[in-house]
Amino acid sequence: MAKMCIAIDGPAGAGKSTVAKRIAEMLDILYLDTGAMYRAVALKAITEGIDTKDEEKLSNLVEDIDLRVEYFQNKQHVFLDNEDVTDKIRTPEISIGASDVSAVKSVRLKMVELQRKIAENNSLVMDGRDIGTYVLPDARFKFFLTASVDERARRRYLEQTSKGISNISLEEVKKDIEYRDKNDSTRAFAPLSKADDAIVIDTTSMTVEEVVDKIISIIKSSEKTQDVRNSQVFS
Ligand code: C5P
Repeated sequence: MAKMCIAIDGPAGAGKSTVAKRIAEMLDILYLDTGAMYRAVALKAITEGIDTKDEEKLSNLVEDIDLRVEYFQNKQHVFLDNEDVTDKIRTPEISIGASDVSAVKSVRLKMVELQRKIAENNSLVMDGRDIGTYVLPDARFKFFLTASVDERARRRYLEQTSKGISNISLEEVKKDIEYRDKNDSTRAFAPLSKADDAIVIDTTSMTVEEVVDKIISIIKSSEKTQDVRNSQVFS
């Protein structure tokens, strides 16, 4: 099979990671959650007492950061300085910190370099904020998932309470999401935005299965068209 890259972008809580993971499983390709990488940078900054908006210190911090993504037990694991921080980076504090560090250009350049390196050798589904616009502008498929802010806050709240991650209220989750929406879409370099050629899916009143089915059917029908085109050209 030729290498295939699928970009899924959108704001927090739009369902990107759940959907991207399922699509990757169904197509038997890698899933790269790029948000986890910015979260790991935020964790390192916070642990070292660095302000998550301090551009100079963050530039030094990422210069030779020991950040690795590995896959085992059917899951992406993020390693920071050889420690598996996959679960540690899911707190509300790290969510806000990730949004702050991701606005720093040198941090983005470093993360994008790592992301492109992974995409170079693998078919994958990559989710984030700037995948279709900046990281993989030539991705074969681009989707942009959205949902109302209330629905996104409700999903994040349920996810966090069910995992016992925090006892933050629904109102606070909504505020965090609004903060990140604004931060992510107004930063100067590679902001959250829809690629011109991305397919938009509003997931507000859709189940995960419905979103996955829709994406898979778009991919399959386009692949079929491609097959037909190829056979016409080469027969
Ligand atoms: O997707 P997730 O919520 O884990 O991302 C955490 C933060 O990382 C986002 O709020 C966003 O600021 C940042 N991010 C980004 N670009 C990406 C992925 C995530 O700026 N490709």
